[in-house]
Amino acid sequence: MSSSDSDHDRDHDRDRDLTSRSAAGLAAAVRSGEVSAREVVDAHLARIEALDGSVHAFLHVTADGARARADALDAQRRSDGPESLPPLAGVPVAVKDVLCTRGVPTTCGSRILEGWLPPYDATVVARLEASGAIAVGKANMDEFAMGSSTENSAFGPTHNPWDLGRVPGGSSGGSAAAVAAGFAPLALGTDTGGSIRQPAALCGVVGVKPTYGRVSRYGVVAFASSLDQVGPFARTVEDAALLLEAVWGHDPADSTSIPTPCEPILPGLERGVAGLRVGVVRELTEVDGIQPEVSAALEQAVKLLEQAGATLDSVSVPSAIYGLPAYYLIAPAEASSNLARFDGIRYGLRVVPGEPGSANAAAMNGATRHAGFGAEVKRRIMLGTYALSAGYYDAYYGQAQRVRTLIIRDFDRAYEHFDVLLSPTTPTTAFPLGDKVDDPLAMYLSDVCTIPTNLAGAAAMSIPAGLDGSGLPIGVQVLAPGLGEAVMFRVARALELGFGFAARARPGGPA
Ligand code: GLN
Repeated sequence: MSSSDSDHDRDHDRDRDLTSRSAAGLAAAVRSGEVSAREVVDAHLARIEALDGSVHAFLHVTADGARARADALDAQRRSDGPESLPPLAGVPVAVKDVLCTRGVPTTCGSRILEGWLPPYDATVVARLEASGAIAVGKANMDEFAMGSSTENSAFGPTHNPWDLGRVPGGSSGGSAAAVAAGFAPLALGTDTGGSIRQPAALCGVVGVKPTYGRVSRYGVVAFASSLDQVGPFARTVEDAALLLEAVWGHDPADSTSIPTPCEPILPGLERGVAGLRVGVVRELTEVDGIQPEVSAALEQAVKLLEQAGATLDSVSVPSAIYGLPAYYLIAPAEASSNLARFDGIRYGLRVVPGEPGSANAAAMNGATRHAGFGAEVKRRIMLGTYALSAGYYDAYYGQAQRVRTLIIRDFDRAYEHFDVLLSPTTPTTAFPLGDKVDDPLAMYLSDVCTIPTNLAGAAAMSIPAGLDGSGLPIGVQVLAPGLGEAVMFRVARALELGFGFAARARPGGPA
């Protein structure tokens, strides 16, 4: 072997080591001087370069910006010392393409926003930067976050790193796949009905939907404003907490942002679950078509928590079964209003039909929306407009809002007896690409276990719970009352220790 071959092998091993480390581990290594932020970023960019052709987690890789940011942090360490570095200095992060990034393409997976450069950063993006984390790219997603497989992206689907023939889940499929594939230890996504937790489950990573109002929505392109919430993806529970604590907290720029201070998660993470009361939600464990291995993983989660000293019982949240139909009225209704802003004038695409000079604004608006939106987005706009129209409003939208109130009440009752609740995250593991594209209802059912939390405005997260017989990841969901993140993470950490997943599993084998 020539010396350049062995240099190359050594670099490769080094890169592979860096891309398998946790965010906490990388931040510590950068702070101690073991590695530079630039080396960390280069290792991740090299892995993206080598493997994202087959995964397609990213719509846009911000290599130059990431390197410049890393060099600036390394220079700061040299001039002002390691203590001057912010907590996540040098840690790469993937950013879902629904989050506005100043001067960096933000498409929401849609042709209608192709070419649009936001003039400002989302609050979460600004907070990421302040935490020292380094955005390496914009992650692929279902168009306007509508979908459960990332196949609704106008720019082609993301592939699940555990099996490239399968979906990564959605709508934040690019974020989940990026973390699973080792392109970044952290990612941000959004969850309106399950779009963080469901892809986290399908990609074998941790995904958190925080309490509504806990993370700013300023600069998040709106899908359903009363449900949308930003949250973290990571390979470990601790890393997910680090990222959440970096971005959450009150933001005066978002009128729905909660002003009360956040109870920190990390100090109590290792407190264990002794004495906690955990309820297994009957309606969400007995869903139609649940894969037996998913049920078995949930049973194992119950045993692990019992062994760790928690008390478990089953609990009924009766209205949870109406979550899915209520969601598919409320979310499209809000979307039909939010997406009216894509009119061919203010953002991105403009299609002018007919002879030059002959078109009017309405024709331009119609032609732009016809060309710019994909089928699922059009379906949602039509469903939502119908649900809100005179004569149908009470029967559809009004009824769905009443169901939402019942769901809130039923969860409140459950939390009178339990600290947290438990359920599967999604009824099955990752399905083959193409399997559900012609059957929207089958696709919608992927979110049957996650949607009730969004309607309740509460918190929930998905934890990897082993692999099924085909080697595909399974997720279990921990649900908590609004502002219950600290106790939710404690339970998640106990499950992580019990399952031992992060330590032993990695897509493509033990490497
Ligand atoms: N899959 C659900 C939908 O299509 C949820 C999407 C989301 O949470 N953004 O609406």
